[in-house]
Amino acid sequence: MLLKESEIRPDELLKGQAERLAADVARLMQYRSDFVEVPCPACGASTHHAKYEKYGVPFVQCDRCATVYANPRPQPQHLADYYQHSENYAYWNQYIFPASEEARRDKIFRPRVQRVLDLCQRFGIDTQTLLEVGAGFGTFCQELLKTQTFQQVIGIEPTPDLAQTCRDRGITILEQPIEAVQLSPASINVIVSFEVIEHLFCPQDFLAKCYELLAPGGLLILTCPNCKGFDILTLGVQSSAVDNEHLNLFHPASLSELVQACGFQVVETQTPGQLDAELVRKQVLSGQFSLDEQPFLQEVLIDQWETMGTAFQQFLTNSGLSSNMLIAARKP
Ligand SMILES: [Zn+2]
Repeated sequence: MLLKESEIRPDELLKGQAERLAADVARLMQYRSDFVEVPCPACGASTHHAKYEKYGVPFVQCDRCATVYANPRPQPQHLADYYQHSENYAYWNQYIFPASEEARRDKIFRPRVQRVLDLCQRFGIDTQTLLEVGAGFGTFCQELLKTQTFQQVIGIEPTPDLAQTCRDRGITILEQPIEAVQLSPASINVIVSFEVIEHLFCPQDFLAKCYELLAPGGLLILTCPNCKGFDILTLGVQSSAVDNEHLNLFHPASLSELVQACGFQVVETQTPGQLDAELVRKQVLSGQFSLDEQPFLQEVLIDQWETMGTAFQQFLTNSGLSSNMLIAARKP
């Protein structure tokens, strides 16, 4: 059974969320005159062209590697303030996560745990210590602990409410940003980080810290949006993946380049996302997006949805064309 978007983001709660997000965006835009120019977060090139503007944040596309990124972007201290006082995140913690956690556990976290364990097994990774950066509600760590694969599972979660939720669930939590964490260098076998790197002001600094913490031979697994995936390429600026928080929209080749530049060897890229077709279909059905000029997609996503939708999404997922990607890399 495929994942349905409404199971993980219940429709009736999304309206309340939209209001909170608008308040957050307004707060972020107070710092608009302090936004700073950055080079491409993937390859370092500085030539680019305008791509999107969303919620007042300008996005450009790198002329060299085609990564899409917010530029100019909010400074790190303003981002920290944004997340610390986010009404949207508070709303998620209070309403959306609890209402959708069981569906998420089933459809996202258990498959995710399996994917991580498969990669560890395939590459013969030691399973003493795993670190999750951005543990959130703690569901991944909880599911992983159930498998009793790792001797030690540690989460990093700087948001106080979320860190408390994790602790209540018996997870070892470091309530700090990863940059401040005092773990011994080369002490971790596996670092996982789901949907974090796209939010960071400087992904390179984050990867350097991961490199420092990993033991030689250790495995890094990241997931994030793929700007060359179906949902983002089709909907463009209307894709929910293009927003004021997703400063870095990599694609498998550009993130691979960055990860390699930080010293890692990329061992695997996948696009496990399952929501592309449904996300586009939903915008068409609600009148926000038109397929009048795209009769093929009209056929697959609307007219023949019941018979073709699942197979079409599976094709996207299996062909590297989903807008959610995974990269696995090893420290030599
Ligand atoms: Zn680039």
